[in-house]
Amino acid sequence: MKLEDPRLLRQYAYIDGKWTHGDAGRETAVIDPATGETLGHIPLLETEQIRGAVEAADNAFVHWRALRVDERCERLLAWYDLIQANREDLATIMTHEQGKPLPDARGEVEYGASFVRWFAEESKRTFGQTIPSHIPNAALGTLKEPIGVAALITPWNFPLAMITRKAAAAMAAGCSVVVKPAGETPFSALALAELAERAGIPAGVFNVVLGEAAEVSEVLCKDERVKVLSFTGSTPVGRLLLEQSASTVKRVSLELGGNAPFIVGPDVDPKEAALAAVAAKFQTAGQDCLAANRILVHEDVHDAFVDHFAERMKALKVGNGLMSEIDIGPLIHHRAVEKATSIVDDALSKGATLVHGDQSMAPGENFFMPTLLTDVTGDMQVWREENFSPVAGITRFASDDEAIELANDTEYGLAAYVFTHDIRRIWKMLRALGNGMVAINTVKMTGPPVPFGGVKQSGLGREGGTAGIEEYLETKYYCLGGL
Ligand code: NAD
Repeated sequence: MKLEDPRLLRQYAYIDGKWTHGDAGRETAVIDPATGETLGHIPLLETEQIRGAVEAADNAFVHWRALRVDERCERLLAWYDLIQANREDLATIMTHEQGKPLPDARGEVEYGASFVRWFAEESKRTFGQTIPSHIPNAALGTLKEPIGVAALITPWNFPLAMITRKAAAAMAAGCSVVVKPAGETPFSALALAELAERAGIPAGVFNVVLGEAAEVSEVLCKDERVKVLSFTGSTPVGRLLLEQSASTVKRVSLELGGNAPFIVGPDVDPKEAALAAVAAKFQTAGQDCLAANRILVHEDVHDAFVDHFAERMKALKVGNGLMSEIDIGPLIHHRAVEKATSIVDDALSKGATLVHGDQSMAPGENFFMPTLLTDVTGDMQVWREENFSPVAGITRFASDDEAIELANDTEYGLAAYVFTHDIRRIWKMLRALGNGMVAINTVKMTGPPVPFGGVKQSGLGREGGTAGIEEYLETKYYCLGGL
């Protein structure tokens, strides 16, 4: 891997400000999904080492929370500056380990950095309250205090931003963190640790542990010193971690899977809506919790929409994300290709129509060509499951009520998209959709100031905005009597 600063490619865990081997010498390879090449190796830590990371974070918490808030803010801003200054290397690392096209990786670095800046500034505004007293001769109020050590477990699809969205909020609140990145994409996390060290974040405040996912997560969930677990990943793993966290009554924040509906009303320009739907479906090769998976199109514009969608997707270039003008990189590994294949086979066996998608054109074994299915129905996997691949499914509807019923026919409730200019339809859908986030006539909705998160089995809690920092704060009520 060619980097301007090769020291950003770290192949050790980072605990208490030290780069650390696994005590038992176990390690695993990190693979470039586009080429199958080994990018490097990372250690698999032992249970005692994970506990050691928690201890380091617990010790560092005492000093970090006591730091004057403007000093904490300055260190986070220094981290932000370093992330921006090393954007090109961070993007190169990400494209190698995750596969997404380099321009998208640069965009993710920018997006990830923006949370660090926003929460650095927000650290100065974790205000408590003054409460008008109902008790004689007393003053009532609340203080906001950092909750303690935060365990942050993150997925491979956004290897940098899913860490900063949590870690910046936690550290701004005064918490220390132990990050467990996905095994597929550890190098982005380790580069963030290197930059945190250079930014003067004290030893023990930002730790990165590596190991067998189930082992590490269980240790973190069951350790009493960890006061909050923030997890982004799949719904089944989220459920498991919620259970494991019950024994220590931890605060838990879960950002889980999605199966977003994309509703196209009868009054919109089908071309405009189709271009937006392609953008919302194929980013990160469809491996995105916000991906427009169930595209619901009013019968009046259905056929024109399908034509425009197919035309636009035919122009998408598939290949190694390091090459120029690539739109869709590889899937994360071959299992994901097998899953996409089975989803398409299942849909075709149940009556879907294949409009586009010729897998013989795939440029390598981890690639899946963008695929369009129409006549999708509720009994198909492509409808029921979070498909996490460049497979798009379109379903036709006849009325607003039918569109709402179809959109809500899922255990997931992360994002929804609505395209219509009819204000009454907009309001009706906004109120009726079972989703934590609704984007209307746009596909861009995320960023530091907004509360990102889902309802139903898409999760608990919110990331970003004032709600995002609250996840790492306790409210302490006081009643000062005898006045
Ligand atoms: P995953 O659940 O397999 O893994 C997420 C993290 O959990 C990784 O660090 C992984 O190593 C760890 N893990 C995996 N299996 C585990 C186990 N048995 N016990 C403990 N830990 C385990 O998810 P993924 O495949 O990395 O990511 C894709 C999922 O993440 C999708 O469902 C996607 O929708 C979701 N996601 C959600 C958001 C959001 O903000 N809601 C954002 C990005 C991704």
